[in-house]
Amino acid sequence: MDFKFTEEQEMLARSVERFARQEVAPGADQRDETGEWNWELWRKIGEIGLLGLPIPEEYGGSGASAVTSLLAYEAFCRGGRDAGLYLSVGAHVFLCAVPIWLHGTEEQKKKFLPKLCSGEYVGALALTEPNAGSDAAGIQTTARREGDYYVLNGSKMFITNGSIADVILVMATLDRSKRAQGVTAFIVEKGTPGFSVSRELNKMGHRSSPTAELVFEDCRVPVDNRLGDEGRGFQVTTDTLVWERGVFLAAESIGLMEAILEMTLEYAKQRIQFGKPIAEFQMIREKLANMQITLDAAKLLSYRAAWMKDEGLDGKFEASVAKGFYADQLVRMAEDALQIFGGYGYMKEYPIERIYRDAKLMTIGGGTSEVQKLVISSKLIRA
Ligand SMILES: Cc1cc2nc3c(=O)[nH]c(=O)nc-3n(C[C@H](O)[C@H](O)[C@H](O)COP(=O)(O)OP(=O)(O)OC[C@H]3O[C@@H](n4cnc5c(N)ncnc54)[C@H](O)[C@@H]3O)c2cc1C
Repeated sequence: MDFKFTEEQEMLARSVERFARQEVAPGADQRDETGEWNWELWRKIGEIGLLGLPIPEEYGGSGASAVTSLLAYEAFCRGGRDAGLYLSVGAHVFLCAVPIWLHGTEEQKKKFLPKLCSGEYVGALALTEPNAGSDAAGIQTTARREGDYYVLNGSKMFITNGSIADVILVMATLDRSKRAQGVTAFIVEKGTPGFSVSRELNKMGHRSSPTAELVFEDCRVPVDNRLGDEGRGFQVTTDTLVWERGVFLAAESIGLMEAILEMTLEYAKQRIQFGKPIAEFQMIREKLANMQITLDAAKLLSYRAAWMKDEGLDGKFEASVAKGFYADQLVRMAEDALQIFGGYGYMKEYPIERIYRDAKLMTIGGGTSEVQKLVISSKLIRA
């Protein structure tokens, strides 16, 4: 067992963190306030290679391992403290580019990946629907084959990057009675007739990331844009699970935990009450100590899942164990931090109230906390 990162990995993390502190952090509060999307930052993130980090070099990425990707995006979140912007980066990389890399034909990979990796294209995944979230096999968007096309009908809900995406991976069913076995993945390109954004959604946190509801009305998608075989759409999402839970969302949770601990320690050491820094009070110190314990545990669980991916081991169970821990713990840590900041923590002049709102998404997106516990307990019971 080796807990050390290589010199190259550490250099990458340092340079990503420096970039995030300089370029991302300064405008994070304002982007949260206005809910604005920042194209200039998106392009800069593309220039430093973060829009295709794990994608092989031949398709325009950097070919980073899961562990290296986790380390780099963790540094991005720790330094940038803009969970919304990162959500858009992560959905683009891990929910769109990675599935195309893993399941695309050579032609699809050459057509879409270089532009996704450079940031010229924005990617998204559209799985969730108004009536199907945790029960993803129950999706109602249908696909019907007509000659060289599939005709898609239905709607998709809560889609990150939905309103700005050029390439959307859409899950639709060829036969609802087959549940998961009927689901098929399609690459829908912006401008395809029959595809539209029905509304942009306003939300509690991650406000710098656009979220939309999408509609497909007799949307004709060329057969060449089917990703994987008919009825194999669920395989596409399942194969991405470790990337999603063990890297994408883990990086956000760990990075935010580190940012929370850093800002809370700084505050507790300088805030004077009863003639001394509040960091001297035992009840505050217990919270600080618990934050460090939680952070270390979240890191170990997440890096284990990412390492398993790199070793060619399954890792899906371990990724669920990690997410089952870091998501709930991030919410708890954000609440403890806000408590330590007292009244100032409740004000918008400190970023902790924004991070407190952002943190909650981790227990909902990428499979809710309850779903992770279903996955974990199902395996325990079957063993
Ligand atoms: C900001 C944001 C961005 C998102 N981005 C995307 C995206 O890019 N693409 C995409 O496809 N989706 C996206 N989602 C959707 C997200 O994946 C779903 O919200 C999530 O899967 C939960 O589905 P739901 O909201 O329909 O909740 P539901 O499935 O309706 O669940 C409601 C509650 O019931 C619980 N529950 C459900 N089933 C069970 C059960 N069997 N046992 C116990 N409890 C259960 C859940 O845990 C939850 O607490 C996004 C969501 C948000 C909020």
